[in-house]
Amino acid sequence: MSLNRYNPVAKVARALCRRRCGTNAASVGMIGRVACGAHWEQAIRNDERVAVEHDLPPAPQDPDLIDDIAVEAAMTGKPVSLTRAEQREAARRLQADGLSLNVIAMRLRLSHAVLTAILASADGTDRDVSVLATANAFHAECAASTLAAVA
Ligand SMILES: [Zn+2]
Repeated sequence: MSLNRYNPVAKVARALCRRRCGTNAASVGMIGRVACGAHWEQAIRNDERVAVEHDLPPAPQDPDLIDDIAVEAAMTGKPVSLTRAEQREAARRLQADGLSLNVIAMRLRLSHAVLTAILASADGTDRDVSVLATANAFHAECAASTLAAVA
């Protein structure tokens, strides 16, 4: 990019130079009739800094955001780290596939208690009850302790 008035940072360089060098700019030596070398440099550096700042990592992720790829990997038994919302999603999908809680717990590498708690922490109350009922039939002791923990 040439150092002339068509440069993207020309306006910034010109403003900087006018403010700092003022009429002295001409004697310092203008480049492209826009700004002195020092202020061109400052404008370009400022621009790079802004670009770097805009490249910073995005804001922290929504904890309820579901990473589909991670969920699908977990559903096949791969050891991926999931958020609680993703664990719930994976458990629900496996349940929808007709898998037993036993198998789901193994797939997701969760204990029965944790799995039932995750499924029970859903928003739909009716669903929670049926899930806990299933868990109860499957592993009475485990579900009982989960119910106690949830209540
Ligand atoms: Zn200047």
